[in-house]
Amino acid sequence: MYLNNIKLLFIQPCVAESKKIRFKAEFSSDVSNIMPYLNSVVKSGSYNSNMPSFTFKKDSRLINIYANDMTVAKAINETDAYSIMDFVKDLINETYDNKNSIEPNYEMRKKPSAFKIYSYLPKKNCKKCGETTCIAFASKLLTGVKTLNQCDVLEEEQYKEKLKSLNDLLELV
Ligand code: SF4
Repeated sequence: MYLNNIKLLFIQPCVAESKKIRFKAEFSSDVSNIMPYLNSVVKSGSYNSNMPSFTFKKDSRLINIYANDMTVAKAINETDAYSIMDFVKDLINETYDNKNSIEPNYEMRKKPSAFKIYSYLPKKNCKKCGETTCIAFASKLLTGVKTLNQCDVLEEEQYKEKLKSLNDLLELV
């Protein structure tokens, strides 16, 4: 087995959401050489070859995988922490087992710009979201001050595809 064990190191209250937790866990071995393969398997993830690290979301949880350990933010509770550790261990081992049929991806995905986000918004400047312009709303989406559901216009059928693209773009923000 590529990764034998993940050991929980500590749990703390989550900084982003007070009712949730964050935690750190240690790998029994270095997993850095599997990260380019994870980057192919988990399409919405973000690989940083300099660290190295691989970051992705599982539902609302933000998972950072480093060479010898992992950190997770917005986990629900201690039970959830152990469930995520199992999930990550299985993901790494399954990716390793299948790596001969996976093309490694060394690309580092960039965080989207406010203008990129804006390009998918309705551009009506209707102020219903509480911002005076769509570009102002886009910049607040990037900082997490606003969320997509605060733009009612995006609920309209004609924006269905753009809303999906926005969700994908904001996955790691
Ligand atoms: S509600 Fe949507 S369309 Fe209206 S200003 Fe805000 S982002 Fe633009």
